[in-house]
Amino acid sequence: MDQRIREILSEKEREGLLRKLTEAEALPGGCVSVVGREYVNFSSNDYLGLSSHPAIARAALEAVSPVFGSGASRLMCGTTAYHRLLEDKVAVFKNKEAALVFNSGYQANVGVISALVGKNDAVFSDRLNHASIIDGIKLSGAALFRFRHNDAAHLAELLKKERKNFKQAIIITETVFSMDGDIAPLDGMIRLKKEHNCLLMVDEAHATGVFGPNGGGIVDKLGHSSDVDILMGTFSKALGSFGAFVAVSRVMREFLINTCRAFIYSTSLPPVVIAANIAALKIVADEPERRTTLLENAAYLREGLKLEGFDVKGESQIIPVVVGGNEDAVKLSGYLKEKGYWALPVRPPTVPENEARIRISLSFAHGRKTLDRLLEDMREARKALGMTNV
Ligand SMILES: *Cc1c(COP(=O)(O)O)cnc(C)c1O
Repeated sequence: MDQRIREILSEKEREGLLRKLTEAEALPGGCVSVVGREYVNFSSNDYLGLSSHPAIARAALEAVSPVFGSGASRLMCGTTAYHRLLEDKVAVFKNKEAALVFNSGYQANVGVISALVGKNDAVFSDRLNHASIIDGIKLSGAALFRFRHNDAAHLAELLKKERKNFKQAIIITETVFSMDGDIAPLDGMIRLKKEHNCLLMVDEAHATGVFGPNGGGIVDKLGHSSDVDILMGTFSKALGSFGAFVAVSRVMREFLINTCRAFIYSTSLPPVVIAANIAALKIVADEPERRTTLLENAAYLREGLKLEGFDVKGESQIIPVVVGGNEDAVKLSGYLKEKGYWALPVRPPTVPENEARIRISLSFAHGRKTLDRLLEDMREARKALGMTNV
């Protein structure tokens, strides 16, 4: 076993795919300090800059004593008044009857999917869905049908051919996709879920807090909450904290409390985290300018990069700059690092072959000045690196 582990690691090293943990300290103002140097942080999911919001820290401090840990799982005695209050607020935020808090988004997806479907059932899943969705499907034992990314016509084709062979079926998609920054065609999916008698589950990890008149996400923006059966989101990205939730019907909540092993067999989040999440929801309601400014700035940067001739994807605060070859992506990332930006390359297999990219993840904390400086440095990078195919 020991020998095998070493071999796997050295193979990864040879392929340039060995992952390492780098110690980093997030700083207010959308920056990060890594090995003693400060960078503008374009790799964080702290889209609204809430991780350093003083109201969240205050709420956490108030809840931190006299008892820190929750001490038990939710069904034993780990459901505090904080948990109940947060779930009530999430239900209102997402415009559903009820909500259930999970310890992380990973746990929510794995737990909910494996509770809902089993071996006589099917899952229709976007090809680019997050690893936690894939793992949930695998654990469930359901048949998996992957449709081409954001392609409702391909989903329709698969449903027509396969739906009749299974008892239950769920369609699962993210709304804002983490690697492409683009948005799922929800209208078409809702039509299909009704036509083929499926549940629809959406993962709003990257949309919650950012899109919609109330910051509720893409479903909020489109007014579709009653047509989405399971609305999953996290407190760990735009909300600047930790943990996750699903917003569902009352009966679905009760079902999950009784069947979802990832919910049942894990200690509940401590009140300090739950109180921070409640405070984060209040800021999303009270400070809508954070999300509107963020999306305006994202549009500004995307257009600026396009004018510079870069191949830019997406329609959200996640801005992938596709450069093609792996080496070019690594070089561009290195050049930007030199200039004081932390923007990491994303390579296959995370993205398709020849679509290696730099992923710029924008935050409300990044002002226009920073973006203008970045545009200038990107123009210079192109010249300095002799990049022709961007
Ligand atoms: C980050 C993410 C998750 C996992 O959420 P955590 O709270 O970080 O565990 C799930 N789905 C998507 C699409 C994500 O981007």
